[in-house]
Amino acid sequence: MDTEEFRKRGYETVDRICKYYQELENYEVSSKVEPGYLKKLLPEKAPEEPEPWEAIQSDIETKIIPGITHWQSPNFFALYPANSSFPSILAGMYSDMFNVIGFNWSSSPACTELEPIVLDWLAKLIGLDPKFYSDGQGGGVIQASASEATLVTLLAARHRILEEYKKKGADEDELRSISTRLVAYGSDQTHSCLKKAAKITNTFSRALPTDKKFSLCGETVKQAIEMDIANGLIPFYIVGTIGTTDSAAIDKLTEIANAIKGTKIWLHVDAAYAGAALVCPEFKYLLEGINRADSFDFNMHKWLLANFECSCLWINNRYHLINALSVSQDILKNPASESGLVLDYKDWEIPLGRRFRSLKVWFILRTYGAKGLREHIRKMVGLARRFYNKILRYPDIFVISTPPEFALVNFHIKPNNIFTKSSNVLTETICDRLNESGKVLLSLTKMRGQSIIRFSPGSPLTTEKHVDMAFELLLNVTEGVKKKVIE
Ligand code: PLP
Repeated sequence: MDTEEFRKRGYETVDRICKYYQELENYEVSSKVEPGYLKKLLPEKAPEEPEPWEAIQSDIETKIIPGITHWQSPNFFALYPANSSFPSILAGMYSDMFNVIGFNWSSSPACTELEPIVLDWLAKLIGLDPKFYSDGQGGGVIQASASEATLVTLLAARHRILEEYKKKGADEDELRSISTRLVAYGSDQTHSCLKKAAKITNTFSRALPTDKKFSLCGETVKQAIEMDIANGLIPFYIVGTIGTTDSAAIDKLTEIANAIKGTKIWLHVDAAYAGAALVCPEFKYLLEGINRADSFDFNMHKWLLANFECSCLWINNRYHLINALSVSQDILKNPASESGLVLDYKDWEIPLGRRFRSLKVWFILRTYGAKGLREHIRKMVGLARRFYNKILRYPDIFVISTPPEFALVNFHIKPNNIFTKSSNVLTETICDRLNESGKVLLSLTKMRGQSIIRFSPGSPLTTEKHVDMAFELLLNVTEGVKKKVIE
């Protein structure tokens, strides 16, 4: 493909993207293909001869789109949102245009220098303590995922505690023995990425029980620490979550910070979904606990209009991360790195190479402004509240399962003398029917034995019309299932 053909195909592709977003509400949200559908449609081998673009473009329409789940649909209410926005798509195009592999400053100075600038902007916008800004010891870095943020901060915490023991004179054998006794904490609601990070690092992880509202409390943490120390374990890391995966619950971070005060335990705050809400003053009360943490992460690619991937991690002392992850190689040596005047982001993450992700943060912050971002969050919170109020109008049919938080509503079906089947069977059947309709997509989860339907609006295209349609459909489907039960 030469430049002239790229120009032509590029314009066509942008037109196709616009058409996709304009027509998206008419698509069935989830794909109906069977497993293995694509293998049946594609040849066994890559082509020997170059193929014309028309053939490739046509396969997008006929072979790929049928297998797409439309996460950007205004009727996508499943899991958590994975926002997309036009400024972010344009930033992706520029990132692809430069295609720099910005592992260190000298590999492409702009790629490195833009990242701390926009993460400082974002830190100020959401209200993080200045200890997280890059002009002190702290700083931000864009990871690919919240899971990676958990892993790298756990590695930093492990490095920090082992260094403490080293300083006290522990030799290699002792350090090895200490490594095998390290224990990390989360709650029974913490995302499974903590378990994975513990697996990768060969440390223990413990899921502590939560209260009635699925929040982790300080007293529980205190008791666990005391018990583990008495049993010869060494607590070194804890994850507090703002917006847990199942119910968007909020851990009692201030209590947790008090419980670990005076210890060497690292507090990481995972706000993968809900951190975006901090752009609004009404959510800033959460900062009291967040600002006591060693590190804080949220996925701008979930609910703040950045295309995947864009997980923003701040750390109050970047040297813990750098000391844990930095390795040198002759081929990467350069005067800028030796001078100590620059950041080399390869030392803040697992991979060496990295995309120019800060461009999308820059474009989004500038095209929306703080005002536009607040409007986006408030619109989603308002739409969730609209759905919640509708649910409340039918107390004989629906039950709110967990306290509504941010833009998430969890509910289940109430069994009564008409609904002779158990609430779980009804809830699961109704969720399946809703999703089979193709008109909406919702998620099902189970908490403390109760099956729950999650309603989580997030697409910038979602409006009141889509929420009302989803609720009408829910009523109709519930009515249908009810009739079947009576028959
Ligand atoms: N933490 C929380 C609270 C989540 O809800 C999720 C995913 O939904 C994750 C972590 C994992 O996110 P990622 O896919 O960015 O690793």
